[in-house]
Amino acid sequence: MSGLRVTLSVDDGHPLDMRTAALLARHGLPATFYLPLCNREGPPVLTGAQVRALAQDFEIGSHTLTHRFLAGLDERSAWHEINAGKRALEDCVGQPVQGFCYPGGRYRPLHVRQVQAAGFRYARSTQNLRIDAGSKRFEMPTSAQFYPHPRTVWLRNFLSQRDRAVRTPALFALLYDADWLVRLHRLLALADARGGLFHLWWHSLDIERLGLWSVLDCFLADIAARVPRSRRLANGEVFSAGAAQPPAGSALLRAARAARAVPHVPPLHPSTPSENSAI
Ligand SMILES: [Zn+2]
Repeated sequence: MSGLRVTLSVDDGHPLDMRTAALLARHGLPATFYLPLCNREGPPVLTGAQVRALAQDFEIGSHTLTHRFLAGLDERSAWHEINAGKRALEDCVGQPVQGFCYPGGRYRPLHVRQVQAAGFRYARSTQNLRIDAGSKRFEMPTSAQFYPHPRTVWLRNFLSQRDRAVRTPALFALLYDADWLVRLHRLLALADARGGLFHLWWHSLDIERLGLWSVLDCFLADIAARVPRSRRLANGEVFSAGAAQPPAGSALLRAARAARAVPHVPPLHPSTPSENSAI
């Protein structure tokens, strides 16, 4: 067994996240749901009661107050989106919210500092093609989005984002086959072979629109078959035992944590903060 670890995240807080949660629970997989309080782009969001139900079994992170792209805001408005989004979500769930995700992956170094000042413990970006946790707690990268992106999109994304050397093996895995799902399986196999961290993220609404529920089900089954429960992590558990913890009352995660000994992730490939585009 390679030591592969997996962490999953789901963005935007669409009501279909409840279906995603049921799917994840069936496979015994933890995940972090990044939620705005409303989505100014139009789609509905989970009700307060749904958010509280979700928080019973999964880590809840913030995705700003109204899902505005921070890079397009002045400093004061960005702070409001970050800070008020955290407070409102904490009021809803009745517990600290320790993780943050930058909407659209669009942010600047100022926003990283604001996220830290608001009291978050870590933040996820949309940098992809990574099979490691990176070295920056406030710019956690991902491996891939669960979405049928054509190869040209992966290539363009590779070229537009930093840390190319460390991202090259994943790029080749994702260029290998004409079928996007075969490519994604190859990326998972690469992370497994390297004993890395596989971080998959998605939007529940995309899964619905593209009719991918059964495909996602099969992919999660593959993950569950490869990764023992002790190495299935919420995003907040990735960096160290001292990082954000999943909900204390979670039966799903309590069982996983009982057998868990999470190794500290050594710093890898320091890089310069810069605006980071969503794929
Ligand atoms: Zn989003």
